[in-house]
Amino acid sequence: MGQGQRKHIPQRTCVACRQVKPKRELIRLVHTFDGKVEVDLTGKQAGRGAYLCPLWDCWQKGLHKGGLERALRAKLSPENRTVLLQVGKGLLLDEEDGSQKSGEDATEE
Ligand SMILES: [Zn+2]
Repeated sequence: MGQGQRKHIPQRTCVACRQVKPKRELIRLVHTFDGKVEVDLTGKQAGRGAYLCPLWDCWQKGLHKGGLERALRAKLSPENRTVLLQVGKGLLLDEEDGSQKSGEDATEE
């Protein structure tokens, strides 16, 4: 294995915030053949795919503002959207969760 060979990292764009990130830092959603949109944790499910950051902000934006539907050429039914939001909630980085509100580094001017 040559050291100079840099491994190619696949990059994808979040359909909500439009940031380009390494594929494995994003969550894939797939428009399946039966017309539903599902979260694809394997990244290999057949169908048209789109990516979102694992952030609640992006998740909501993508689902509510149509970015995801546009990217997937899908029409989300209300219940499909609800399911995705629920699945998303379990997956996303919850920034409120690790509340470390110590004032230790607060004295810097
Ligand atoms: Zn994003």
